Amino acid sequence: MNRFINEKRLLDTFLQLVRIDSESYHEGALYRWLCPELKKRGCSVVTDKAGKKIGSDAPGNIIATLKGTAGEKPFLLSAHMDTVCPGRNVKPSIQNGRVVTDGTTVLGGDDKSGIAVILEILSVLKEQKIKHRPLQVIFTLNEENGMGGAKNLDYSKIKGREGLILDNESVCELLVQGPAVCDFIVQIQGVASHAGVAPEKGISALEVAAQALARMQLGRVDEETVCNFGVVQGGEVTNVVMPQLYLKGEVRSLNVKKLQKQIKHMKDCFAQAAKGFVRKANGKTLRPKITIETPLRYGALNVPKKAPLVQYVLKAAQKHGVAMKALASGGGCDANVTCQHGLLMPNIGLGVQNCHTVEEYLDLKEFYKAADIVLDVVLNYK
Ligand SMILES: [Zn+2]
Repeated sequence: MNRFINEKRLLDTFLQLVRIDSESYHEGALYRWLCPELKKRGCSVVTDKAGKKIGSDAPGNIIATLKGTAGEKPFLLSAHMDTVCPGRNVKPSIQNGRVVTDGTTVLGGDDKSGIAVILEILSVLKEQKIKHRPLQVIFTLNEENGMGGAKNLDYSKIKGREGLILDNESVCELLVQGPAVCDFIVQIQGVASHAGVAPEKGISALEVAAQALARMQLGRVDEETVCNFGVVQGGEVTNVVMPQLYLKGEVRSLNVKKLQKQIKHMKDCFAQAAKGFVRKANGKTLRPKITIETPLRYGALNVPKKAPLVQYVLKAAQKHGVAMKALASGGGCDANVTCQHGLLMPNIGLGVQNCHTVEEYLDLKEFYKAADIVLDVVLNYK
């Protein structure tokens, strides 16, 4: 098998990339480094206006197009430019086939491993003069804080319909499914009263919440749905019946219908609980007031396992000695967002482990394999 990936060059590019600070909202330096690198490799480069909307010091997401065989739709390759904190002044070194940090920062392999592989593929296409379909490269801002870059991407500039997101951990895992997530924000307005003198005149927002939660299915609701309350705020002193309570939770499900069903169930629990707290005081009827908001944080990633692209990626992996599986994730990534725009983009792993910690490292064997597989897909998937 012909091997076009230049491992040394790929590693050098990666080491260069991780030394450019790009914590979320501060992708400007990396943005300025990437644009000329893409042009050097033959791409035309445009930037959308996402930067301002998100509050980044970079002007926007990068969309680069490489011409290819006429008449074919471009294949999409995407990675995100930002890293989590602490991501400044990264000092990478190589130990036992891994790129590691000095223990004070993340590596930023999430997601500079993806950027490096994409740049390497562009270099290969240029130097080998291989016939290939057109490519569109998307480098997004601010994935780590709720995918602000992908959410504000100018989709009118995206001409391809399918491709790969390069932003997963193990090269053995291709993410094809991920949950939709809704926040579940509850404000309970009870009635304050002196807890020592007239507790019966008050309505405890805390008791209302307790009754609602006692009725509710939480945790792992079914094999596709989970639910959790993680924030509770209320009360100041012990001698007042608690007048207000704020609760914040979330529901995740791979299945949008189940997500909606769980949200309805939770709303019903609060409504039912409230019925038990109607009070008569001074000739007036008092009842708790409950307001609930359930904004969608992001939609589900759902690429059919039977899709020809997924099947081809698995086959290419096998060809390169990697036992890859198409799996569901519990979290979200840019692929969840692009999926809402009708783009078929599973998320491939690059050999990064312990993401979002100072123990993050890049396994070079997996990294090089991932590059081989992505190049294979770019060259041979039709
Ligand atoms: Zn990432």
